[in-house]
Amino acid sequence: MIETLTNKQALYFIPLGGSEQFGVNLNVYVHAGKMLAVDCGLGFADERFPGIDLLLPDPELLEENRDQLVGMFITHAHEDHIGAVAHLWPRLKCPLYATPFTANILKRKLEENDIKKAKITIVDPAGEIDLGPFSLSFVPVAHSIPDAASVVIRAGGVSALHSGDWNLDPAPVAGAKTDKARFKALCADGVDAYIGDSTNSGVPGRAGSESEVEDGLYSEIAKYHGRIFVTTFSSNIGRLMSIMRAAKLAGRKVAVVGRSMQRMLSAAMECGLISDDVDILDMDAVLKLPDDQVMIICTGSQGEARAALSKIARGDHKAVSTKPGDVVIYSARTIPGNELAINSVKNNLIQAGVRVVTPRDSQHKIHVSGHPCQDEILELWNWVKPRCVIPVHGEREQLDTHAQLARTAQVPNVVVPQNGSVIEITAQGVSIVDHVVTGLLAVDQKRVITAHHRSITARRKLQYTGTAFGSIAVNAKGKMVGDPFLETVGLIDESDDADLKIEDHLYDTMIEAFDDMRAADRKDDGFVAEALRIAVRRKANQILGLRPKTIIHVIRV
Ligand SMILES: [Zn+2]
Ligand SMILES: [Zn+2]
Repeated sequence: MIETLTNKQALYFIPLGGSEQFGVNLNVYVHAGKMLAVDCGLGFADERFPGIDLLLPDPELLEENRDQLVGMFITHAHEDHIGAVAHLWPRLKCPLYATPFTANILKRKLEENDIKKAKITIVDPAGEIDLGPFSLSFVPVAHSIPDAASVVIRAGGVSALHSGDWNLDPAPVAGAKTDKARFKALCADGVDAYIGDSTNSGVPGRAGSESEVEDGLYSEIAKYHGRIFVTTFSSNIGRLMSIMRAAKLAGRKVAVVGRSMQRMLSAAMECGLISDDVDILDMDAVLKLPDDQVMIICTGSQGEARAALSKIARGDHKAVSTKPGDVVIYSARTIPGNELAINSVKNNLIQAGVRVVTPRDSQHKIHVSGHPCQDEILELWNWVKPRCVIPVHGEREQLDTHAQLARTAQVPNVVVPQNGSVIEITAQGVSIVDHVVTGLLAVDQKRVITAHHRSITARRKLQYTGTAFGSIAVNAKGKMVGDPFLETVGLIDESDDADLKIEDHLYDTMIEAFDDMRAADRKDDGFVAEALRIAVRRKANQILGLRPKTIIHVIRV
């Protein structure tokens, strides 16, 4: 496909994921037959994918043109940007580029997945590299994780600014401020396209500063005498620092639970991002203290079933359990789609006599977003003067509000992509010129399959319709041998006699259907199975109004 992208004065941009949903960010730039990938993240599966937790972007375009792939740059270490690398790298085998903290996390993830051959090159967040026809200039940006970077990509005389996730926090707690001077210097003549974060494009004003959260948390914590649990995103190192400093001010000692949080903290320590004014104790030591000196930071702000807070709320955690008088503070936003899971954790906590505080309940600032609000986006555009805005990183709604903001700001051109749009960026203009097929992959228990794999469709269907399994033994003459067997799942309550009669009806229907068949037809296994399947399913629909997935095995004896 990429052979058709022949304009030598153009840089082509193809979002393979993340431009119709939150998560699964995977972006491709093409010039002179070569490709550069930016980010490779995962998404969280909802109830449409039974048995599946994680989704990945489909990298088929990159895989098919693997020899032309000069490398992959990861803008920062959030799962929606980095999380698919370990799953997909074996298909791509390309060189990886990342800033120090991002590279540290990436290395750990690859090691956990036993990937030893991947080469990660650490880049300076304010540095430059040349990759084949692409020249990349990085710019440090503030975000809710250290070492995030934007990248200006130049090829064929065309420039594109790929923002990654960012905001204009005037005083970040961990990591650098957004480098205004570098943006202005790199984009003194404007950029042909700005490809940017749409998450908060509908939110007026500014995100605020991580440094305000320490005071906000302190004011909130100071109200309580019970033990305090705070949950946030593991990777938000600045937030972890704010929480630990607020704890110190309030005379509380801190323990941390949750593997991902411990992993992130150890990466942050290796990168020198944790200052020595905070300290972390063992859980045992903290639990021995009086309640008003206890602070436990835990994973699970999104209701993840296996995270520490969810286990604690269910009473399943080995090291710690709640008691009445405890307080749980959510220092995080709810990612759309996680509401039900989070509510279930909250309900467990409240039932156990625990007070739950979310950013909405507190009059203090206990959370700020890592993504830019409208005034910040406008300010950045002022520095880099985009000739075209291409909104990415969001659902249709966020992409459209981002586009609307650009039109209001009189950006000369706005192009709203879909996943798979092939966008030609030239000095003369930007337009969608083609489309490639995209999709999602699903991480099943031991393999990666397409998200529309029949097994997933079948699981989804079984949830709603139930299932009936039957088997019947037939001899060579077409006579039934022994008693047939029929079992249903998800149709009846076996402890209820009236319900059991329904299963009897289905069983009788199966036998009647067999008896009604002509002798010649009974010699054809496929024919028998299909006739019985239709009869059982029709009967179930008559009685229950459900068409269960029905499977009949014919055993020829
Ligand atoms: Zn993101
Ligand atoms: Zn992010």
